[in-house]
Amino acid sequence: MRGSAIDLIALDADDTLWHNERSYRAARERFGRLLAVAGVARSADDIDAHINETELMNLPYFGYGVSSFALSLIESAIALTEGRIAATDLMNIVELAKEMMSEPVELFAGVREVVDELAASYPLMLITKGDLLHQTAKLDRSGLRSCFRFVEVVSQKTPAVYAEILSRHGTEPSRFLMAGNSLRSDVVPVLQLGGWAVHVPAHLTWSHEHADVPEALTGRYRPVAAIGELSTVIRQLLPTH
Ligand SMILES: [Mg+2]
Repeated sequence: MRGSAIDLIALDADDTLWHNERSYRAARERFGRLLAVAGVARSADDIDAHINETELMNLPYFGYGVSSFALSLIESAIALTEGRIAATDLMNIVELAKEMMSEPVELFAGVREVVDELAASYPLMLITKGDLLHQTAKLDRSGLRSCFRFVEVVSQKTPAVYAEILSRHGTEPSRFLMAGNSLRSDVVPVLQLGGWAVHVPAHLTWSHEHADVPEALTGRYRPVAAIGELSTVIRQLLPTH
């Protein structure tokens, strides 16, 4: 776009465009009730901490997404009951995962408008972590599929992963902007690469996705209060060359 500082805009999906974390919170609550019935006398915080620890240990094996989460719940159920969890309870966890996979997608307020507006002026890319089938199905169900020229479902969001995507699309990092709710995944790695990053806070974000933005990298960092401010922020960026 002539006169623009940006050639390519990428958006995160979960907890940026649509609700996601609340589904995991609800699943954790159901899991807690299931364990209580199975005779596990542990506090909700205790069980949560155990799930988190298991999920982080499992990330290198199973990555992000509902499938990985479900395996972590099964593993946690086996550990917390010292192997006594019933097969029917394990089946309930599998059912829980299937329900999460098929839930309707609910967009945040203002998303449709801002995505339509940006898509009229820029090529848009969706960059999301998680299960390939689930993430692409959610995009289809969201009604936003036609707004995105490119879709990247990745295993992790590191500077190297972003660099590989940008080189494949022939885009300079300094002319790339990523917006999302995760400081760890959507903001810091893009700033480290020399790109622009907008943090769109979510009401709920998984604790793992928090990070501090290093002071030295704040030059291309733009926090906003809500996703509706994205187009204003982008208009205010000055061309870098
Ligand atoms: Mg997200």
